[in-house]
Amino acid sequence: MSPVDRLTTAELAAIDHRYVWHPFTQMRDWLAEEPLIIERGEGNYLIDTEGRRYLDGVASLWCNVHGHRKAELDEALRAQSERIAHSTMLGLANVPATLLAQRLVDLAPAGLTRVFYSDAGATAVEIALKMALQYWQLRGQPQRTRFLALTEAYHGDTLGAVSVGYSDTFHRFFRPVLFPSLHVDPPHVYRWLQGRSEAESLELAAAGAEEVCAQHGSELAAVIVEPLMQGAAGMWQQPPEYLARLHDLTRRHGTLLICDEVATGFGRTGTMFAVEHAKVSPDILCLGKGLTGGYLPLAATLATEEIFSAFLAPHESFQAFFHGHTYTGNPLASAVALANLDVFAREQVVARVRERAAQLRDLLLNHCAPLEHVGDIRQWGLMVGVELVRDRATRAAYEPSERVGNQVVRETRKRGVLLRPLGNVVVLMPPLSISPEELAFLVQATAEAVDSVTG
Ligand code: PMP
Repeated sequence: MSPVDRLTTAELAAIDHRYVWHPFTQMRDWLAEEPLIIERGEGNYLIDTEGRRYLDGVASLWCNVHGHRKAELDEALRAQSERIAHSTMLGLANVPATLLAQRLVDLAPAGLTRVFYSDAGATAVEIALKMALQYWQLRGQPQRTRFLALTEAYHGDTLGAVSVGYSDTFHRFFRPVLFPSLHVDPPHVYRWLQGRSEAESLELAAAGAEEVCAQHGSELAAVIVEPLMQGAAGMWQQPPEYLARLHDLTRRHGTLLICDEVATGFGRTGTMFAVEHAKVSPDILCLGKGLTGGYLPLAATLATEEIFSAFLAPHESFQAFFHGHTYTGNPLASAVALANLDVFAREQVVARVRERAAQLRDLLLNHCAPLEHVGDIRQWGLMVGVELVRDRATRAAYEPSERVGNQVVRETRKRGVLLRPLGNVVVLMPPLSISPEELAFLVQATAEAVDSVTG
């Protein structure tokens, strides 16, 4: 019997209000309202303790891939639980994590041959940063200690990830302890804030990165980037050429390229990995979220053989990579990840995403673009940001105190769709399994909600 069979929604809500501290949440607001408590999932829907159904419009924070209660994933979890739930990867191997590493290398962009596991997007990034730093010391270039990142990049909430992915709204209280990194403006900043053309924006952004590299190239441990779409910034889009230019810069300055595909990986942008659009292979690739189909916490940092081999040395030199989390390579999560990749292949998920993305583009054009306060719609595959503005001509923003994005998601909730905004940007990021009918419903509800809040 599940607790919900014994407790009423009101009782559960009281317990939540008494004991839980929610992430990225102003708890004063939270405590003033009745929480929506999810009890079950079914396909692309979440079902609350009152039995109400909601379309999961942001894929449970961008990670769900094939919907909830996917039979193959449920079965993989059940089968693995009959063998073992967890054993350590420090000094031991386990069956599913071993097999998954091979599958990931087969799937990943060329040249990435080694898989280092962890359990969250942020840890995958921490590992990438530390790997790069140690790599350069081992290769006799200890001066390479700096990272170049994009303005408003987001790479997770641990301090290393925050140091490269700073956002003033989220992170200003931690500023005193962050390590300084270099930042350059991505093409979005020029296109949106300066009203430039796409081509001009690309050139300005590439020139900016070129300039910083000319000055600091020899000190760079790596350039780190969310390829094609800076998610948490508010779905800031880049053309693939920008990534290709950054890759070229790293080659010319002899530094590493780290691509953080925690959000864009596993089909989201219409290719298995976003870097494929630019035909670029990074030196280090960070994966998380969709790796287990959105079922369990598992992440991976993939590296080239060149990076891996730099760490090979006599034991007593203590040059091993001293990093590891307790649940690294968890067998339950790895078994589900294997089943997830099977479903990708069997259902031709990536090809389906491209079809749905085309449908989504049309729907957005027809229903959202005409609305007076929709300033911009940014889309890569099934990853969308609809930016709301007070004035379309001047691009004047709504004040944060107006909480326009929040108001919109309140309205979509009334219509049976769960979303979570990024400021004034309404994010649409459904499971990749969303059907054409569900997609139409998602956009219709969003357009109605935007209209009712801003109209
Ligand atoms: N990198 C990117 C690009 C992300 O979008 C996120 C999470 N949204 C992270 C890293 C952090 O992942 P996690 O929340 O699993 O730590």
